[in-house]
Amino acid sequence: MVRESEIRQNEVAVTPPEPTDAGLVFIGLIRTPWTSRLMAPRQGRSDGPVCRIEIFEPWQAALDGIERFERLEVLYWLHLSRRDLVRQSPADNGTTYGTFALRSPVRPNPIGTSIATLVALEGSTLLVRGLDCLDGTPLLDLKPDRTLFKPIAPEQPGDRETQA
Ligand code: SAM
Repeated sequence: MVRESEIRQNEVAVTPPEPTDAGLVFIGLIRTPWTSRLMAPRQGRSDGPVCRIEIFEPWQAALDGIERFERLEVLYWLHLSRRDLVRQSPADNGTTYGTFALRSPVRPNPIGTSIATLVALEGSTLLVRGLDCLDGTPLLDLKPDRTLFKPIAPEQPGDRETQA
């Protein structure tokens, strides 16, 4: 895993296809205390600093009801990440691991996820704890933590489908 954009001993980069970013829309901006990749936490903590998630128009109406959930799944775009490493060396000691066996920010599609604790909703800004991204990181999506969410839509056959 790279901390900034360097290549380490035994790490492997490939030439990725030209990214099209799947037409993703950034729906907000995350404000955190961290301005350096070397200073941000590797994973957010539920007792970490309060961060702000600012939702852009026209998405502010989509916040309706969100305050019912104590925890949110936050998806963000790790915009400064390189996207071409298939093997990474988190400890920078020559031992490498496949990118998909890591939670490194360096991935073909640099999507970060955190479970954040909702502290408050102030207009179109959420105050949360539990993030690990840099100040100015674009927001991709917000969802209730899946362990707190009960589907509202009527049940359908696959909901109870199991296989021995
Ligand atoms: N919690 C997320 C996950 O598991 O998907 C992200 C984990 S990733 C290890 C967190 C690290 O990504 C931070 O310590 C920082 O070095 C780096 N990082 C944070 N924000 C970033 C950004 N906007 N662009 C690139 N790297 C970022």
